[in-house]
Amino acid sequence: MSDTMRFLSYEDLDEIQMEFGTPSFVYDEAILRANARAVMNFPNAYGLFARYAMKAAPTAAILRIFNEEGLGIDASSVYEVERAVRAGFGTESISLSTQELADDFTYWAQDGIKINLCSLHQIHKFGKWGKTKRIGLRFNPGKGSGGNNRTNVGGPASSFGIWKDDLKEALSLCQEYNLTVERIHTHIGSGSDPEVWKTVASMTLDLARAFPSVETINLGGGYKVARMPDEKPTDLQEVGSPVCELFKNFASETGRKLKLEIEPGTFLLAHACSLVTRVQDVTSTGPDGYRFLKLDSGMTEILRPSLYGAQHPIHLLCEPGQEKFREPIDQVVVGHCCESGDLLTPAPGDPEALFPRNLPRGEIGDFCVIEGVGAYCSSMSAKNYNSFPEAAEVLRKEDGRLGQIRKRQTFEQIIENEVVP
Ligand SMILES: *Cc1c(COP(=O)(O)O)cnc(C)c1O
Repeated sequence: MSDTMRFLSYEDLDEIQMEFGTPSFVYDEAILRANARAVMNFPNAYGLFARYAMKAAPTAAILRIFNEEGLGIDASSVYEVERAVRAGFGTESISLSTQELADDFTYWAQDGIKINLCSLHQIHKFGKWGKTKRIGLRFNPGKGSGGNNRTNVGGPASSFGIWKDDLKEALSLCQEYNLTVERIHTHIGSGSDPEVWKTVASMTLDLARAFPSVETINLGGGYKVARMPDEKPTDLQEVGSPVCELFKNFASETGRKLKLEIEPGTFLLAHACSLVTRVQDVTSTGPDGYRFLKLDSGMTEILRPSLYGAQHPIHLLCEPGQEKFREPIDQVVVGHCCESGDLLTPAPGDPEALFPRNLPRGEIGDFCVIEGVGAYCSSMSAKNYNSFPEAAEVLRKEDGRLGQIRKRQTFEQIIENEVVP
């Protein structure tokens, strides 16, 4: 009400409701492009190539914007590779780091995508195929920096990448299969602390010492953004400058001028999207209980609060002019699924605890806008749970016009693959 939304206005909400319905994800083109430019300005000593980690939000219209801005792609599966190609990316700008190296990787590898092998098994698999020889290796350098165990993707509790102590074995496998390691890749999780980035960059450079053929270091993503006022955002310049120094030191010591790759997802997307929903019911459990606002959305669009206790800004908006009748009170915001975990206001880091949020007293029909939902929301939801259709996606173009980039799923599409024997 008095608090302002990041990029939407009340008039936008009205238009979104009328044109596209709710719930709808609304992406902002100007923010997407500005973020892409910030990423491409990451400090570097001997060249930078920035990739978009498309699992954050893989819709073609978003990919096309980043392609225009000059970003490449970090794909997490062969399906993402295909999606990126269909959205216009050349295979040479795509790299694949996947937990499941599906057999189809061979077609894409022949077509020129870059593959970072992420386990000893993957080295065997790639080596036995043997048609192309230049590869990257993803290591788990033994340290991580996630906000919690679920977003931590480095260290002994993480399965991602070749464990640091298996370096010798990786090396000898590559020799056995005659593979040339041209890239070392690490991706250790969300963080904004320059010291952590420095440590990981130096661990990664140490790995590169063991592979004289390495020309590129890929430091992954994980640049944390501040969705809530008490969170600390990443300053790319602050994080990147010491890393840049390390590359220079490495060069003066070894004569090797390594190129840098980074591949953010969250940083590019998080603030560039808001989820527009409406309050469709209000219930209460009495004076010792809670007042619940039930949205026409929930874990079917945004799962992060239920998974990690993630915090997102929530704006409750009634019709302009009504604000003065709506004193802020503590309320619990829940989704529309028959699932007690479908909770949008959990305690920070504790998805199971109700943590009422102080919001204007909500009533049925109010708009509820959830911000910071560009990354890992639309792409990582409990799609079709309770048979609710997948939400629409809308792009707010640079000139302010709204255009649909993904239609709301139809009922027929929900059941189209079912077969009655
Ligand atoms: C998910 C992922 C990223 C992006 O991570 P963010 O935290 O969204 O920046 C980058 N690289 C790899 C290999 C990933 O799996």
